[in-house]
Amino acid sequence: MKIKIFGAHGLESTETKFMSLLIDEVLALDAGALAAGLSFSDQEKIKAVLLSHSHADHAMGLASFAMRTFVDGSTVEVYALKETGDALTTHVFNGVIDPEFTRKPATEKPALRFHVLETYKPQVIAGYTVLAFPVHHSVPAVGYQVTSAEGKSVLYSGDTGPGLPSHWEYLHPDLLIFDCAGSNRWSARAPGLGHMTPELLKPELIEFRQRKGYLPPVILVHMFPLWENEITEEVVELAGELDAEISLGYEGMKVEV
Ligand SMILES: [Zn+2]
Ligand SMILES: [Zn+2]
Repeated sequence: MKIKIFGAHGLESTETKFMSLLIDEVLALDAGALAAGLSFSDQEKIKAVLLSHSHADHAMGLASFAMRTFVDGSTVEVYALKETGDALTTHVFNGVIDPEFTRKPATEKPALRFHVLETYKPQVIAGYTVLAFPVHHSVPAVGYQVTSAEGKSVLYSGDTGPGLPSHWEYLHPDLLIFDCAGSNRWSARAPGLGHMTPELLKPELIEFRQRKGYLPPVILVHMFPLWENEITEEVVELAGELDAEISLGYEGMKVEV
């Protein structure tokens, strides 16, 4: 399973993009940079998109993506919680902010189609077994474990604050891709906003290793670039303390599991 991170940050600039990952070129996780971070030929290869939640930094790429499918007569298949699909249909694809792509050009063949995912009900999507699990954020949100036909798994947390160990017994990832939006100076505020810092991540990873007997490589994402130097230093320290493989994601990063 080949994973490409093409959006790894919590703020956009010419060098940084909102959250978006791609598995084997066909399954996208989050749509922050789904259009701005991919060529048109790469966009056309995508069979399905999993959304972690409704926030713009994870969903905004759908606006351009669905405009393209509207123009070329195809459909983008998007999987998400019911709350996420409803929020985007009501507040974005409503004929005011963006066209009603869930009903146009035709109800039976729209440019954008939402499919409801429920937590802890695995579904096969584009040939992968997808398990959504609830996380701690300011709106309904999930993380995903995606497992290939060969049995390799990647876990993507989406946006979350601390408190994930209750899920560990159901998950068996070969790679963790985890929220780390802020540096440790933000540790008091981050849980209320539904995000992580290296300091908050430490007990989660310790508990993972205790419960599972292993700790896979960890890639941190969603960093706010203004704090990235601090986060980098703190992550080097954390990796040393835990004797673990922990790195920061970046746009264009490729990993294979
Ligand atoms: Zn969010
Ligand atoms: Zn976010």
